Amino acid sequence: MIDLASDVKTRPTAAMRQAMAMAEVGDEQAFEDPTVNALCERVAALLGKEAALFAPSGAMCNQLAIATWCRPGDEVLCERTAHIAVYEAGGPAANAGVMMHAIHGERGQFTADQLRASFRAQWRHCPQPSLVCVEQTANLGGGSVWSLDQLDAVAELAHERGLRTHMDGARLLNACAATGISARDYAAQFDSVWIDFSKGLGAPIGACLAGSRAFIERAWVIKQRLGGAMRQAGIVAAGALYALDHHVERLAEDHANAKRLAHGLAALPGVMLDPATVETNIVFFRLDCARLGFDAHEFSRRLAAHGVRIGPFDERTLRAVTHLDVSAADVDIAVDAAARILA
Ligand SMILES: *Cc1c(COP(=O)(O)O)cnc(C)c1O
Repeated sequence: MIDLASDVKTRPTAAMRQAMAMAEVGDEQAFEDPTVNALCERVAALLGKEAALFAPSGAMCNQLAIATWCRPGDEVLCERTAHIAVYEAGGPAANAGVMMHAIHGERGQFTADQLRASFRAQWRHCPQPSLVCVEQTANLGGGSVWSLDQLDAVAELAHERGLRTHMDGARLLNACAATGISARDYAAQFDSVWIDFSKGLGAPIGACLAGSRAFIERAWVIKQRLGGAMRQAGIVAAGALYALDHHVERLAEDHANAKRLAHGLAALPGVMLDPATVETNIVFFRLDCARLGFDAHEFSRRLAAHGVRIGPFDERTLRAVTHLDVSAADVDIAVDAAARILA
């Protein structure tokens, strides 16, 4: 099966498994795991922050940041398609008691002007915002990359208003691979930021949240509360370190493969896709269902029968994601299968 459903579908390579098997370990929650400690130091430096913590998932990093920065009744501002708003099972409300204020941006992004327009009156009748979240790259924005100027302008306005800023950097390193801008520069104006090891980086588990030392100390309390404190977690942290050593440079290949896929699909009858919108490893495309006589779910089923997995996003839209386990040749096979179904 050529699995383009998501970049979480990667399997740890033999060399990564070897690194994991050989990892030095200790009690993570007592800060005695040397591999976790090394990973946290490495990520803090990569992101230009004082400190970092290791968490079982990216979603937990978002929840820790929101619960650390906000009080119940506060508002969190984010784009309406943000993972925080749509894919975390209501975590911000359940775990932190906050309201989500969704900004109608474009391709998962919003501008400083849109942020300004969404501030409510500073009046005791209104919920008051305490945190602004951005997602780099924007998943449901089609893997779109926020420009550094736009990020800085949003963060500057947020700080002017006394709000904190948080970056969901699940795919931050994809943005870096696409533009050559460093993770530290993208994250510079953000009070907290995290990266995921289990997406394009190809590790099985884990994410690291970074920020000031005081922030990480407070986030640790929430991590403990949510049951995120671990023991010999160096076994999994070793996979993340291996990924940072060996799977960052190669993200550019995923982007080239996504472009290749986009150009291949865009040339097929009944596919609506502008390859210019594909900036990283995510390819959203729509089907002209009236013309084809079937919808995205049926197209996905037919692709699966050809050994290609691409998930339907809604009735007319599909999402394909390239990653470590998908080669250029696999992309050609996928395009070929799509061509036969659409012929
Ligand atoms: C996957 C993802 C998350 C959550 O990360 P997990 O490691 O799956 O919990 C958060 N934000 C974005 C943008 C993601 O793509």
